[in-house]
Amino acid sequence: MKINQDLGDLTLDLVNISSVSQDEKAIADLVQESLSNLNHLKVTRIANSVVAQTNFGNSKRVVIAGHLDTVPANNNFPGKKTDTEITGLGSVDMKSGIAVALKLAHELTKSNFDITYLFYESEEIETKFNGLELITKQNKDLLNCDFAILMEPTNGIIEVGCQGSLRFEVSAKGNRAHSARWWNGENAIHALSPILEVINSYESREPVIDGYKFREGLQAVKINGGVAGNVVPDLVTMTINHRFAPDTTAKVAEENMRKLFINFDFKLMDAASAAPTGLNNELIKNFVKVISTPIAPKFGWTDVARFAAAGIPAINFGPGDPNLAHHPSEAVKIKQIEDVYSSLKKWLSN
Ligand SMILES: [Zn+2]
Repeated sequence: MKINQDLGDLTLDLVNISSVSQDEKAIADLVQESLSNLNHLKVTRIANSVVAQTNFGNSKRVVIAGHLDTVPANNNFPGKKTDTEITGLGSVDMKSGIAVALKLAHELTKSNFDITYLFYESEEIETKFNGLELITKQNKDLLNCDFAILMEPTNGIIEVGCQGSLRFEVSAKGNRAHSARWWNGENAIHALSPILEVINSYESREPVIDGYKFREGLQAVKINGGVAGNVVPDLVTMTINHRFAPDTTAKVAEENMRKLFINFDFKLMDAASAAPTGLNNELIKNFVKVISTPIAPKFGWTDVARFAAAGIPAINFGPGDPNLAHHPSEAVKIKQIEDVYSSLKKWLSN
């Protein structure tokens, strides 16, 4: 993999190295190899994550992070290059961001900051597989920094904070019987309507935090139930996803949901905290001033929350339209990849 080609071609090369979650060895090998002979970087490998650190002796350290994995292909692998775009699996989420970080890692042999580049595995699947989790366990000092930039797709604007996410199951119970003699049973599927009523009558809160409007949500995402075509079912379970704004902790969000579904069996599956906007932090203020692009709230959960939980201000800033992430027609404008690169280079050199 040649790093000193233009950013479009580098993105295409990265897209064409298959790296579906838990299959990142090939891409991690190439990333490690491309960085390990550079004098200004100290490279550490942890499983299939690669950490490259400068040691310029500056007082502040910045993390620039991106995940190496993608969701599974959907007739969009390998990728293609047009005059203006790179298309294909992961072009948006987030091989174009990885291309920017790799190029910066190569070219910035000095900066006003010390920089830790993090290329990590398995962000797209359960938290327990996340490369940052493994790095935290094995050598958490590698994540030390004053400010973190997650290169998740933001369409080249700065997205601040992120909403938290709760996933839980709510069940309705009944009694099993033959459907021909239904009066001997109690249908659990029919008992779902009050659960659906709670969901349908939920009014989503839209708090304005540091001037930016977030938007909470409550969505049924999965349903499981039924025995056979002639049986009154005795159990149905609905999985529900609640997205909550950064002014709410995961604990309070859980309490709110337990209250809302107080009449039903409630089982928490997982909880991910939200992250504050960080806009009162000096480093973020300076970043916003130098980069000078629009700012928006981040609705989806990202690893900024992980840094925020450790007290480290973090923002999302990367090429690619987040609406196209995980979409079969992922495509990123080459010009946007170049713009994000130039902005970061300018800030890191200013
Ligand atoms: Zn992503």
